[in-house]
Amino acid sequence: MSKRAFVVIRPPGHHCGEDNPNGFCFVNDVAVGAAHAYTEHNIRYAVIFDIDLHHGNGTQAITWEINHDTHMDQAGMRIFYGSIHDILSYPCEEGKADAIKDASISIGGQYGQWIENIHLRPYQSDEQFWLDYESLYSKIFEKAAAFVENAAKGEEVMVFLSCGFDASEYESDAMSRHGSKVPTTFYHRFTRDACKFADRFSNGRIVSVMEGGYSDRALTSGAMAHVCGLVDSDGGKFNVDPDWWSFENLLMLEKYTQKRKGRPARTTFLAPWLQRTLDILPLFSGAPSTSQVLIPPSRKRDPPPTKTGRPRGRPRKHPLPLAGSSSISSTTTTTTTSSKGPKRTLPERQAAASSKRRRLDITAHAQDAPDSATGQQAIGQSTQPSVVGEPIEQGEAQTAGLESVASTSSVPRDLRLAFAEEIRKLKKLEENIAAFQVAYRPDLQNPHINWVRTQRLKEVLQSWEMDGLT
Ligand SMILES: [Zn+2]
Repeated sequence: MSKRAFVVIRPPGHHCGEDNPNGFCFVNDVAVGAAHAYTEHNIRYAVIFDIDLHHGNGTQAITWEINHDTHMDQAGMRIFYGSIHDILSYPCEEGKADAIKDASISIGGQYGQWIENIHLRPYQSDEQFWLDYESLYSKIFEKAAAFVENAAKGEEVMVFLSCGFDASEYESDAMSRHGSKVPTTFYHRFTRDACKFADRFSNGRIVSVMEGGYSDRALTSGAMAHVCGLVDSDGGKFNVDPDWWSFENLLMLEKYTQKRKGRPARTTFLAPWLQRTLDILPLFSGAPSTSQVLIPPSRKRDPPPTKTGRPRGRPRKHPLPLAGSSSISSTTTTTTTSSKGPKRTLPERQAAASSKRRRLDITAHAQDAPDSATGQQAIGQSTQPSVVGEPIEQGEAQTAGLESVASTSSVPRDLRLAFAEEIRKLKKLEENIAAFQVAYRPDLQNPHINWVRTQRLKEVLQSWEMDGLT
């Protein structure tokens, strides 16, 4: 059984503190994983490497609290938190002293704290970047080694990777608005080094959890390099080639995976890797096609427009200074309400008008972007029913595990209630995810993994005849 895992999950988690959602993070996935490892698997030492563009202020705050309690009680879990990030970006973007100080802490054992923050440097060439990697970024492993070296046995240690891809060279300029980037190969190299660290200190166990990363190209290339790093840390025996995520290959991938509505089937001979990718891709999407419209239809009726045609609700602000917001209107216009093409019937026009009102609401909310001063505000407001409604019904999900649970005949009531509670939380999460995705990923066609999961959970509950509880 593999000891390396990559958890592709949205939304990200590392800004979320113990009890305060932050920066569009609602659950601190890595912290929950570490706590679970401690309570259920006797992992007393957790090492967390965070390579998202942004400082994981939530994870660091949780780390501080846990280490403090353990230090005082001389019992409990100990965590090393190491982050490589851009000091100019969120949560430091407003220049607040506490945020900047937190994102710059370097402490190795005093007060029981093990925290290392390294700031990304601008670079002009790949050579310069890799010199910085050797002299600066890779120090994170030395600091982490000092944490576990004399203290723990392999079976007590677990390595986590908060793996964001928003520092990618291919991330949108709106996200990397301070110019801090890393070459894609960084995700391969860092992952390899993290796996080597895990081989040395945690019996090879490493769990990587996705954090940020918002442009298609950044996600595709970064995740590809990262996964290659997960399999390529055994002396290069897998012959990973950095050309796999070359710019030319990425362009090819994008060209052949984009929506092909109305066009004849492709007859061109494709490179084997590309053909295989196209064959495999639908299995991951959980959806029958990539032509779904992004914006979820609302279950509740849209609020009636005012006389001026503007939707009711909170007043409009100025447009968000992010690419996400500016492309929302253009993308959705072309995909859902283009005025060109065949003449539409009355119901179609009514549907388009309703869709337009919904988009207006969403655009208004997209102005509260994460990674800005208003991120917290957006979390609260994104739950309004006018913003997002029920998820798009997707095709068959690939969740065989839940299906087997569903067939269990006698399920204890407390477990069923726990599932009902899970549904309730996920419904909330769906709304927040939808707002998040519309804000950042207007171009994304199949972002509904969590929604598919919720749909499956609903089916499980129905099979237990407890739909009323949801
Ligand atoms: Zn981020």
